[in-house]
Amino acid sequence: MNGRRSLLESIRHWVDRSLHGAMTCAEFESALVDYLDGSMSTLAKRQVDLHTLLCPRCRRYLRAYDRARRLAVEALREPEMETLSAVPEDLVQAILSARRSGSTAHGS
Ligand SMILES: [Zn+2]
Repeated sequence: MNGRRSLLESIRHWVDRSLHGAMTCAEFESALVDYLDGSMSTLAKRQVDLHTLLCPRCRRYLRAYDRARRLAVEALREPEMETLSAVPEDLVQAILSARRSGSTAHGS
């Protein structure tokens, strides 16, 4: 009985250490930039993938982060005049003023 219990304990410890413990949520968040840039070693990338699989919170975080990053890249791109003319003028103005007030609200 005691033996079985300690076996389960060591399995739990092993799982904690080798799976979830391989990367904490904080480590995951700080590794994200490198991960999305692709400038990461295969081993570190696998740790991020593993943590993404195991942690629903970070999975959601990664999805939101990736989407925000893509939107930011698109927003920073010079807007083409053809694209702008296809969009109603007042909508363009609303987006531009939202971006202006957004950037002042967040400081630099
Ligand atoms: Zn996490």
